[in-house]
Amino acid sequence: MPVNKEAYKEIIAELKSKNVTLVAVSKTKPVEDILELYHLGQRDFGENYVQELVEKYEQLPKDIRWHFIGHLQSNKVKQIAPFISLIHSVDSQKLLKEINKQGAKNNRVIGCLLQVHIAKEETKFGLDENELKEILVPGFKEYKSLSVEGLMAMASFTDNMEIVKKEFKSLKVLFDKFRVYHSRLTILSMGMSSDYELAIEEGSTMVRIGSLLFGKRETKT
Ligand SMILES: *Cc1c(COP(=O)(O)O)cnc(C)c1O
Repeated sequence: MPVNKEAYKEIIAELKSKNVTLVAVSKTKPVEDILELYHLGQRDFGENYVQELVEKYEQLPKDIRWHFIGHLQSNKVKQIAPFISLIHSVDSQKLLKEINKQGAKNNRVIGCLLQVHIAKEETKFGLDENELKEILVPGFKEYKSLSVEGLMAMASFTDNMEIVKKEFKSLKVLFDKFRVYHSRLTILSMGMSSDYELAIEEGSTMVRIGSLLFGKRETKT
């Protein structure tokens, strides 16, 4: 399926007017598709799989800002640490420690978002409110080589927009609550192809959109 450049132009215009950042989610899509949006000016791209991301990174222009949005295993952090812009899916202290360690080895500060569990589904990853509190205690000393810049979450897979709206609201409440102590929390990453408009109404500052731009994905096996 070709890249939907018309949809891209409409979405980017809308997001710019609202000061929302677009992460174009290119998982499973070829580098040629990424380049089509790159040539229209897009620089933020999101990937879910470490191996696939590393391969794309090597082939594509170096001014792309890569976002890691999938579940990340600690033992794979070192592969993306040299170049990753923002890891959206940090869901444990263990992972924070490892990111900090690999950031130091690469002489850089790695941007991170804490992933929060807001959906009903058990299968989704993320921290609950108490776990979030344990990490973001008042006076939380940032690790030297990573910077926690915000929160991320995925809503339930449902057509019931009332449920999705409630979940987004619950994330915004947490974001505002923790922001009182942590002024560096500026990014609220929520909203995908099916619900990004609702997410923006509920306070999202960064949306992750894949299929609206790149077309449907083959289901990965
Ligand atoms: C795949 C994915 C997206 C994009 O989903 P679309 O429905 O294709 O827009 C966004 N966020 C995460 C975490 C994803 O895994």
